[in-house]
Amino acid sequence: MVHDFDVVVVGAGAAGIAATRALMAEGLSVTCLEASDRVGGRAHTDTDIFGIPFDMGAHWMHTEHVNALKTPGLALGLDLYAAPDNAQTYGLENDDILWDEVDKIKHAIDRAARADEEAELTTGIPTDRSLADIWENDSEWSFTAAMTFALSIARDLPDTSLRDMNAWEDGDDWFCREGFGHLVACCSQGLPIKLSTPVCALKSLPDGVQVTTASGNISARSVIVTVSVGVLAEDIIQFDPPLEADRRAALELITMGDYNHAGLLFRPGAIQVQPDTWLTYRLEPDASGVARGGGFLCNISNTGLTSFESSGSFSRDLQQTGPESAIEHALETLVGFFGSAIRKDFIKGHATAWRHEPYVLGSYAGSKPNGHNQRKVLRKPHAERVHFAGEATHASQHCSVSGAHLEGVRAARDVTAQLI
Ligand SMILES: Cc1cc2nc3c(=O)[nH]c(=O)nc-3n(C[C@H](O)[C@H](O)[C@H](O)COP(=O)(O)OP(=O)(O)OC[C@H]3O[C@@H](n4cnc5c(N)ncnc54)[C@H](O)[C@@H]3O)c2cc1C
Repeated sequence: MVHDFDVVVVGAGAAGIAATRALMAEGLSVTCLEASDRVGGRAHTDTDIFGIPFDMGAHWMHTEHVNALKTPGLALGLDLYAAPDNAQTYGLENDDILWDEVDKIKHAIDRAARADEEAELTTGIPTDRSLADIWENDSEWSFTAAMTFALSIARDLPDTSLRDMNAWEDGDDWFCREGFGHLVACCSQGLPIKLSTPVCALKSLPDGVQVTTASGNISARSVIVTVSVGVLAEDIIQFDPPLEADRRAALELITMGDYNHAGLLFRPGAIQVQPDTWLTYRLEPDASGVARGGGFLCNISNTGLTSFESSGSFSRDLQQTGPESAIEHALETLVGFFGSAIRKDFIKGHATAWRHEPYVLGSYAGSKPNGHNQRKVLRKPHAERVHFAGEATHASQHCSVSGAHLEGVRAARDVTAQLI
């Protein structure tokens, strides 16, 4: 049978963009179908809301030494720079007290993850504790320190797999002054991407795949699916044959967390800190163990924009109660630090709600305890010709743009090996 394309890529986020470019470089015919009316997915820089770049999703270029977007960003002539080492903690003259606690928990995570791995090897029984299992409430800053990990993984303490978290590659962060989403969008230039084209079904054929969209069917020899695990779990795409039982089970363990920004624009000088200061403060668990607070990235790239970062159940609740509650919570917390005078310098705010984005359904894919080895299940092909890629499938850079990009390239390599 002659197909319309060698490959259809579903989704034009970081993974889909990287896959499309890599397949084209191999001389394959490709189309990339994107449900929304823009590229980038969870890497999206808005410039309309504040008149300056505001990363609605990804902002930190994590693990700079292995970040796959650094080289393309520099080649594009974008202004990339190292995140300054200037974190501050409200209420602490010497914030080594907090960072020593953070180090202590980091070592405890590493020890426990290794012990669980060894226990599993000895007993054959899956063993993987949560952050809540090892966190010790032995100093007034220990909960805040534990929350720095929970914040980055977008989940509550009992909901985080230690082994999955420990697999995360550590390194320094960089920023892109024009916005990380802008960098990703630049990488899509010249690619055959069809916007506003949601894929609703994928049917395996004897020598290919039929892709169904609202505007008709397309056939291809192979497909790469890069949608979030939230979209997969909600059956927004119907698979024929249906997704396998082990992949379904993996989707119960590797799930979308909640992480959101509330951007607050102030007149210059209102928030008296250096550009890109990470500002933390003491967090207390509520009755159910949840921190009803987060952290601030202040004066982003010296623009006067400050972003309040929330995660887990608290972030989910803020999305539920609406953007105004997130903005007011962030503003009120900053008033507590800098005084009520900052209210007159406040220009406007905007809060994201990624859980409510219909083609994303959350922030990124963290692992529940005992989900640490499920990413490889999500990565394997389905019915031979349907391949999967995205942040969720990367073993050590999951939850990141770089991981998504690298997985897009990996899936393109797998498809190329199959087709050429
Ligand atoms: C608030 C927030 C902060 C973050 N911060 C960071 C950070 O600082 N640094 C970092 O590296 N990462 C960060 N991340 C994570 C990062 O954004 C993601 O890991 C990465 O962008 C995911 O890329 P992806 O290609 O795997 O998926 P996506 O970006 O979700 O791309 C998938 C695409 O598929 C499309 N799609 C969905 N369903 C369909 C369908 N049926 N048909 C066709 N298309 C469809 C979607 O619209 C989307 O464009 C953050 C994420 C969020 C939400």
